[in-house]
Amino acid sequence: MKDLKLTGSSEGQSRTVIDVEGVRIGEEFVVIAGPCGVESEIQIIKTAVAVKEAGAKMLRGGAFKPRTSPYAFQGLGLKGLKFLLAAKRETGLPIVTEVIDPRDVSWVGEYADVLQIGARNMQNFSLLREVGKSDRPVLLKRGMHSTIEEWLNCAEYILAEGNSKVFLCERGIRSFETYTRNTLDISSVVAVRGLSHLPAFVDPSHGCGRKSIIGPMSLAAIAAGADGLEIEVHFDPSSALSDKDQQFTPEEFAALMKRIAKVRACVEELGP
Ligand code: PEP
Ligand code: MN
Repeated sequence: MKDLKLTGSSEGQSRTVIDVEGVRIGEEFVVIAGPCGVESEIQIIKTAVAVKEAGAKMLRGGAFKPRTSPYAFQGLGLKGLKFLLAAKRETGLPIVTEVIDPRDVSWVGEYADVLQIGARNMQNFSLLREVGKSDRPVLLKRGMHSTIEEWLNCAEYILAEGNSKVFLCERGIRSFETYTRNTLDISSVVAVRGLSHLPAFVDPSHGCGRKSIIGPMSLAAIAAGADGLEIEVHFDPSSALSDKDQQFTPEEFAALMKRIAKVRACVEELGP
């Protein structure tokens, strides 16, 4: 692949490790968990406490929700970021949250430990340039219609601005299939980890959209070499304002984390 001057891996180059408040992305296996959207202080704190207890190392939650319909829940904005901070104070979990507008990057970065670029904004080049000027680590989702080459070139935009703390996240691509929300391309994890030194995560929640499939696909992602997972968990999914069908309860998440630990142990024993 041409022109991946900073993102591409070269012979003998070590893999990128990103330190987020002591969590070593790319070095240790990291599960990021939390609700789709931040809905209230109690919702995010209760969920954060539960995911931490189950072994998650970072908390996710959207304060800005890029929704298909302009009438759907758009997120709480600044209020949501303040609730995330309260959950961080309670649990110590670093915060991963999405930024959707280049004008918001610097002030959202005052609350977020990791800035997430969502699938719909993967090729928003002004947003990529802006997070590239930030000193915050960036989680770059794969666009739902994007090739691996386009995705890596978007990472290149961020690195080219000076921010080398980028990690990738496969979240499913659009195909003719509609039973699953998207088609989770686990092969891309192997591909991008070969082409690039950047860590690669998998988001099986948006990738599959069905709880019965998200668990097994989490395990498959680990077997494929993923550096971590991003999973949606809500303390009461039936009341969720977005993505209620795909969010795990804390109990379901804790059960999956036990299976994740077992598959991780097998993969570690197998070696590269
Ligand atoms: C999300 O993680 O909240 C999200 C909206 O995901 P994606 O951008 O992958 O659809
Ligand atoms: Mn969601």
